[in-house]
Amino acid sequence: MNILVINCGSSSLKFQLINSESKQVLAKGLCERIGIDGSLTYQPQGGEKVKEDKAMPTHKEAISYVIDALTDETTGVVKNLAEIGAVGHRVVHGGEKFASSVVITEEVLSEIEACNELAPLHNPANIIGINACKELMPGTPMVAVFDTAFHQTMPKKAYMYGLPYDYYEKYKIRRYGFHGTSHSFVSKRMAEIVGKPYDQTKTIVCHLGNGSSICAVENGKSVDTSMGFTPLEGLVMGTRSGDLDPAIVEFIANKEGLDIAGVLNVLNKKSGVYGLSGNLSSDFRDLEAGAKSGNEKAATAQEVFAYRVAKYVGSYVAAMNGVDNIAFTAGIGENDGRIRELVCENLKYLGITLDEDANKTRGEEVRISTPDSKVNVYVVPTNEELAIARETVALV
Ligand code: ADP
Repeated sequence: MNILVINCGSSSLKFQLINSESKQVLAKGLCERIGIDGSLTYQPQGGEKVKEDKAMPTHKEAISYVIDALTDETTGVVKNLAEIGAVGHRVVHGGEKFASSVVITEEVLSEIEACNELAPLHNPANIIGINACKELMPGTPMVAVFDTAFHQTMPKKAYMYGLPYDYYEKYKIRRYGFHGTSHSFVSKRMAEIVGKPYDQTKTIVCHLGNGSSICAVENGKSVDTSMGFTPLEGLVMGTRSGDLDPAIVEFIANKEGLDIAGVLNVLNKKSGVYGLSGNLSSDFRDLEAGAKSGNEKAATAQEVFAYRVAKYVGSYVAAMNGVDNIAFTAGIGENDGRIRELVCENLKYLGITLDEDANKTRGEEVRISTPDSKVNVYVVPTNEELAIARETVALV
């Protein structure tokens, strides 16, 4: 079945048309600057990537250009809409309501809307995308796949903050976790690779990309993860600070003359390895080049990043009382051997020895621990779009 996978942001929309049996991406692309002016980037399988300016006052026009491109006589990949079996929408926040993917109905839509205040930048955009698709593709089944759903299995001791209990009851303040589609996909694949039943293995997934999070997956269930109420908690990321002493918020506000929103903007957009490197870059390729040419702040940024990852891995070994596998994934996890090496240096106590040659591999599924290591360490490329397509097929 051909599944259209949609990841809708407030002014952008990424899409892939995936054949769920062959796993092939028939076409993919991106609409940008929706509501401003608009452009469509489209690439059919084996064909050239073409970017065109197109007026996109709303997401509806954007999706209608996507459909036109997919069904175009020369560059299209399907004859008509009937060849698209279903649409899978990435939805960021499902709150406590959604512990798995669901077929979208009117009731589901209003429940997603009820989660808007938990993800005010993302969920409203996801809903706009769903509504635009519903209008343009009436009759095509739609599925919502949530970033938070996989983590709904976390036990209460892992998701409660040390705050007054009634904040949880009144405001739903708790840890939710994100990147669930990726953590689920990679941990399942990890079990397949080592030939163990998914429900009998302990895996720590390190999803290290622009946004980064770690997840402890015990017997097929997320039991803890590093992102929390929002994606700001946990690891030091590209531009996000990750964990810090909450008293710093007031201190920065006073020193820099900022309000709370201003400080949060700093913590989300100007911190992380970008801030640590003295605003050199949030991209780990630039940090590596900087560190090699003697930029100390760039080297510090790499070290702080890797140290925080290693500390979280250690704490998740404790959370699960052991670990069988550790998987590195996403842009940094799949490509940055230096970061993997720095992390694994702090994991020798687990009986892990890094296979230095294997660790030079980029972007491929590979074992990077030596065969005699007590824990398997692998690079496992993530594929969130394929995961969304599979979830969608399973439900329709
Ligand atoms: P997201 O989906 O969160 O935007 P990705 O998982 O695509 O992020 O990761 C993007 C990041 O991966 C880049 O910012 C960069 O830091 C890192 N990255 C990508 N390619 C490489 C590479 N070859 N070497 C080191 N880091 C890389």
